[in-house]
Amino acid sequence: MHIAVIIHDRCQYKKCNYECKNYCPMVRMGTDTVVIDEKGRPRIIEELCEGCGICAHKCPFEAIKIIGLPRELEEDLVHQYGENGFRLYRLPFVQKGKVVGLLGPNGVGKTTSLNILSGNVIPNLGNYNKEPNWDDVIEYFSGSVMADYFSKLRDGEMRTVLKPQYVDKIPRVFKGRVKELLKNVDEQGKIDEIAAMLGIENSLERFVDQLSGGELQRVAIAATLLKDGDVYFFDEPSSYLDIYQRLNVARIIKNLSKEKNVFVVEHDLAIMDFISDVVHILYGSEGAYGVVSQIRATRNAINSYLEGYLREENIRFRDWKIEFTEHPPKRPLELPTLIQWPYIEKSYGDFKLEVYPGEIKIGEVIGVVGPNATGKTTFVKILAGVVKPTKGEIDSEIKVSYKPQYVKSDYDGTVEELLYSVLKDRMSVSFFKAEVLHPLKIKHIYNKDVQSLSGGEMQRLAIAICLGLEADLYLLDEPSAYLDSNQRMIAAKVIRRVMENTGKSALVVDHDVYFIDIISDSVMVFGGEPGKRGTGKGPYPMREGMNLFLKNVGITFRRDGETRRPRINKPGSYNDRDQKERGEYYYG
Ligand code: ADP
Ligand code: ADP
Ligand code: MG
Repeated sequence: MHIAVIIHDRCQYKKCNYECKNYCPMVRMGTDTVVIDEKGRPRIIEELCEGCGICAHKCPFEAIKIIGLPRELEEDLVHQYGENGFRLYRLPFVQKGKVVGLLGPNGVGKTTSLNILSGNVIPNLGNYNKEPNWDDVIEYFSGSVMADYFSKLRDGEMRTVLKPQYVDKIPRVFKGRVKELLKNVDEQGKIDEIAAMLGIENSLERFVDQLSGGELQRVAIAATLLKDGDVYFFDEPSSYLDIYQRLNVARIIKNLSKEKNVFVVEHDLAIMDFISDVVHILYGSEGAYGVVSQIRATRNAINSYLEGYLREENIRFRDWKIEFTEHPPKRPLELPTLIQWPYIEKSYGDFKLEVYPGEIKIGEVIGVVGPNATGKTTFVKILAGVVKPTKGEIDSEIKVSYKPQYVKSDYDGTVEELLYSVLKDRMSVSFFKAEVLHPLKIKHIYNKDVQSLSGGEMQRLAIAICLGLEADLYLLDEPSAYLDSNQRMIAAKVIRRVMENTGKSALVVDHDVYFIDIISDSVMVFGGEPGKRGTGKGPYPMREGMNLFLKNVGITFRRDGETRRPRINKPGSYNDRDQKERGEYYYG
């Protein structure tokens, strides 16, 4: 069986010569395999398509995917968005009393799955020309727990609550104070209790459009918890949260699962590992199809994911392994200094940041870790020259390229136009094309309007532009936000490789421990009292820095026996107590 998919936001039928139709061997022999509809859009008639894939190769916008799939999937088609649209095969299963995690790259149907399970979308079982109805769905799943699940959903006997992925959109639809927003959804009279659990008591009187990303995320989670439902869905609950807040949210969600059904989509693998009891890996081809694989114990699922291979299904979905080293990297031989700073202070109203003297070496990648609101971004801005310190001065003439934490653009045009306008001659440098644009898959979004990009696409573009600019020091503030776990590992490799090849330095702020682990030669550690006082120290060698950081937040990691990846210890467990005693928080 093969499927023919046209990715609509890539198809630029007004700008091409209908290569898909004109090169199709079937069309040349007189069969109407590719037809042009009345609006000028191509349609591929799947029943007539032989699956040669010539159209996919000839399409100048890489908008077509012709994919061979095993025959047994055919019966498992749960939903299809139109004739040449995305297809979802199989569905995640509910598990009473367990947190069910969904793990997979962007564009393979995680949100679609959540929309179906939450009752927002009735799956059409592939009959996209017919109005779907729950009775067919229940019949299709008869004999499984899902038939009962969908019956209850149809009969209104079950209520579902969803925390959406993009919390940044909340201020656009709600104008007012946090308290008012939460009051609207407070069905259980628990605002104060939930706000305290999430540490947003002091944000209740603030206006929603003045919140930081981390505060918005916790407000969105609070709003979800306040609603009284039977099934809860959390689509990426960790974006913008620091590791301490991520773990806190993970514990709250775990607790909720004792009484309710819970599904979570998460890309921070350390958190996914900690939060879920079982995991469905989704694999497939972005925008073309997705398959929900069988349920696995979390540890197995994440190990398989890193390996890129699903043993039970015999499916390889990545041709390289994501690997971790058990021991900290060796310090490079003495490298020359790029920039040094003395003791620095910066005050903003009630907040005071102190940064102790430190230096960045040429060719070094420094990870920056620490809780939210302790001054990481402020320090990056001081290095970037955007903010002047209150005390101390950095005496340096180096050139920096800076990717801010919140990437926005008011550019009116396509990605390609933007790239050529800011990077000009860099665009033809083969190293830049091969080591940055290609792995970040920027070509796929070339023809999209910058304003229409998704969060992850915008992030990839911002990383590419930052790395494309000529500089001595690259500053990247939270580059992993909205990237899927695979893209995070790719972005980490891209940043490393650019520094290794050009001998330039980078300072990267991030909360994803796997990302920091892969990217860093050394770490800078921020601490203090969020919103009141922050201290920045280092850079330190990895072992020393990770110990200091994790000691501040009270978290220890052990190593997985098979893959050596770091795993968060259960607080109070034997490993946790033992490692704290020995002072080995990370390379335990
Ligand atoms: P994920 O959550 O894994 O990133 P989604 O479920 O959001 O994936 O989307 C999978 C694919 O389905 C998308 O790449 C898109 O091409 C397609 N898709 C999503 N929603 C729609 C829709 N309403 N109409 C048509 N296609 C859609
Ligand atoms: P981090 O990056 O560690 O989350 P930031 O450097 O963004 O921390 O912020 C540290 C503190 O400084 C926060 O309490 C923040 O509200 C405050 N702050 C940051 N920028 C400004 C500013 N321009 N005006 C007033 N306060 C600010
Ligand atoms: Mg910040």
